[in-house]
Amino acid sequence: MAQKWKKQQKYKKKVNGWSVFFGVLLFCGACFLTLGDLMKWENVPTMSSVKDTVFGPNTLTGEVENDCEVHFIDVGQGDSTLILSDGHAILIDAGENDQGRVVVDYLEKLGIKKLDLIFMTHPHSDHIGGMDDVIRAFDIGKIVAPRLPDSQVPTTKTYTEVLTAIAEKGLKMTPAKVDDTYTFGKGVFTILGPMGQYEDLNDTSLVCRFVYDQSRSFLFTGDMESPVEKELVQSGKILKSDVLKLGHHGSKTSTSKGFYQAIDPDYAVILVGDGNDYGHPHQKVLQTVESNEAFVYRTDYQGSIVFSITPQNQFEIRVER
Ligand SMILES: [Zn+2]
Repeated sequence: MAQKWKKQQKYKKKVNGWSVFFGVLLFCGACFLTLGDLMKWENVPTMSSVKDTVFGPNTLTGEVENDCEVHFIDVGQGDSTLILSDGHAILIDAGENDQGRVVVDYLEKLGIKKLDLIFMTHPHSDHIGGMDDVIRAFDIGKIVAPRLPDSQVPTTKTYTEVLTAIAEKGLKMTPAKVDDTYTFGKGVFTILGPMGQYEDLNDTSLVCRFVYDQSRSFLFTGDMESPVEKELVQSGKILKSDVLKLGHHGSKTSTSKGFYQAIDPDYAVILVGDGNDYGHPHQKVLQTVESNEAFVYRTDYQGSIVFSITPQNQFEIRVER
């Protein structure tokens, strides 16, 4: 009898052990599936792009000097650029995770309550890290980002946090499509890239050109690197711009000579952190810029940099430091 009882206990222990094991396995499987589902672009809430989007009257409650201003915000080693165009506010990227508050404060000081459009160039943390804070702090019109294949959709905490903020606000992402335009009064953005799918996330960067009053032009390139720059030149699209935000914080992997000469900017802006670990901006890039006689502005030296366009379409440039 005692032996039978022992056997039963042994059996129970075995059963308990197996149920715990299977339970854990089931739980992990469920977690993996849920996470896997979230990390597919198909499951990111999206809407289809409209070729030419015109934004109606808006919104800007704060005082700005001129009708169009482009603010390259100092977020250390990262990108964040605010464009104000005839009463509309548009943000390209929002710096690292710890810079979200900096960007929110900067926008609030300008009296901004609504961002009509957010461009997320690519899902690296130095570009979208602070975006969850921004999305939560303001009314948001539209969010445009490159469509990524499932294998490239990041599983990082940073990206998940941004997706969560988007979902909380009931927003959707619009995929960036080449040649789509977004119009804000006299200011028009044209999407130039990404032109395809690339292995390196930097190359998937959303690239856009902004032209105000058919006169002043800016090119924003995210972290796109040289081989894709070459493709963009070969595409025959208009690249010539007055102001270029240098690709990838002035890394030597971007700003190839042919690309730079196709843009031929009067001003080159480098968004870069003071004493960063990457050695950005690279000497070779600075030489390319200087040999083409452009003025260079850097956030590590000058803080935030503002290009304001006067009614006569002249630049007034001011720096924070
Ligand atoms: Zn970057």
